[in-house]
Amino acid sequence: MAEKFYFYNSLTRKVDEFVPNESGKVSMYTCGPTVYHFAHIGNIRTYIMQDALIKALEYAGYEVKRVMNITDVGHLSSDADTGEDKMLAGAKREHKSVMEIAKFYTDAFFKDFEAVGNKKPDVIEPATNCIPEFIHMIEVLLEKGYAYQAGGNVYFDTSKLDDYYVFSSAIEKEQLEVGVRDDVEEDVNKKNKTDFVLWFTKSKFEDQALKWDSPWGVGYPGWHIECSCISMKHLGDKLDIHCGGVDNMFPHHTNEIAQSESYLGHKWCGYWFHSNHLNDRAGKMSKSKGAVLTVSVLKEKGYDPLVYRFFCLQSHYRKPLEFSFEVLDNTAATYNKLVKRVSELKNDGAVDEAVKAEFEKKFCEAVSDDLNTSMAVTILYDALKADTNDATKLALVESFDRVLSLDLVGHAKALLESADDTSDVDPELLKFITEKIEERAAAKKAKDFATADAIREELLSKGVEIKDTREGVKWQLI
Ligand code: AMP
Ligand code: ZN
Repeated sequence: MAEKFYFYNSLTRKVDEFVPNESGKVSMYTCGPTVYHFAHIGNIRTYIMQDALIKALEYAGYEVKRVMNITDVGHLSSDADTGEDKMLAGAKREHKSVMEIAKFYTDAFFKDFEAVGNKKPDVIEPATNCIPEFIHMIEVLLEKGYAYQAGGNVYFDTSKLDDYYVFSSAIEKEQLEVGVRDDVEEDVNKKNKTDFVLWFTKSKFEDQALKWDSPWGVGYPGWHIECSCISMKHLGDKLDIHCGGVDNMFPHHTNEIAQSESYLGHKWCGYWFHSNHLNDRAGKMSKSKGAVLTVSVLKEKGYDPLVYRFFCLQSHYRKPLEFSFEVLDNTAATYNKLVKRVSELKNDGAVDEAVKAEFEKKFCEAVSDDLNTSMAVTILYDALKADTNDATKLALVESFDRVLSLDLVGHAKALLESADDTSDVDPELLKFITEKIEERAAAKKAKDFATADAIREELLSKGVEIKDTREGVKWQLI
């Protein structure tokens, strides 16, 4: 039996108890990347928090099936169907074909996605694989009177809905209506400002690279249709949880709901999970701004990608998070201490099952309480401090890592193995080196750099070279 699980549902604007359509089973859809550029660490924050949600649900006893799309067609630079085609712009920028761009950035995306400990989705579907499904849904929407043709394109008619702005409060609805009215770029074919494109045959992109035949002429799909169709293709007519970043809420998810429920004739998805953005000091991170900070770049700079995961898990997914290298440096130091602490645990006998169960219950309650990952980390520290044997602590670290995915045990083993390399070193010398490194750290902390430098020289005179790295001080015999 799965435990009770609660999280904030953007549809009801409150923390709801999660009740899936089929007991114990969860169908989950997550909007995937638009593969015209590298995914920045902000995008990856969204995927880390979704991964934590999946693993928290699994920890609570649910079986999760997760589907993700890859947007390789149809996403224009403005979410409101205006601007330039993102994929085409990427291809032009790099003098490659659209499909080459899609392949390159899809591979780069999953490299970073997995490096931060995320589990790959059960199904990954590029939009270009599902053109017949898109055409079918659009045909049904036309038949049912929810869509119309104008100027060669097919549009969704939002005036046919009683409540289009499903995620918004009355005040937000008013603001959105004003925002939409004031949008500068106007598509004269639209009957209503909020209508959106389902299929383009006439667009301003003469050189649109990817085009398909359709009942309305040769063209390509609008952006929103892909998520509705790909979700239904793999997860059926009723979806449990739909995820995305907060920027996806309007218009993307609003339009997904509009077309899906009009097509199905019933409610589609009951729970909407939106995570907040990562910002840098200059503001929101954005792929379209050019130079992007990626997980691979962090790695090149010497950071373990799991340190970035740890950084994300320590704050709540619904709050904006500000990134800085200072904070990441502190997180790296905390992470290394944690690994060291775990490396000191001895497998010293039987696990105390009662203590283990008590901590696991607390941990499960934390992650089931609107995905309180920072509380989950606190419980990990509490377990390490608990009055119990090391075997129990080790078992708990392994248990919590099913959600946290910080690979603490793996890193602790690696630390011990690298420490093993010192087995040839004279124990007296080893003791001396350790003491001197500690002394130097204290001097540096007290900003006594003269002493710190003198210690470095002293070590060097004994044939020991030290290096300051992101993981702490490393040394070698020269
Ligand atoms: P995109 O590839 O632009 O479609 O974005 C992929 C995912 O990253 C989407 O779910 C977005 O909502 C999310 N996202 C975009 N910008 C940020 C950001 N600065 N911080 C966190 N998530 C973001
Ligand atoms: Zn989507």
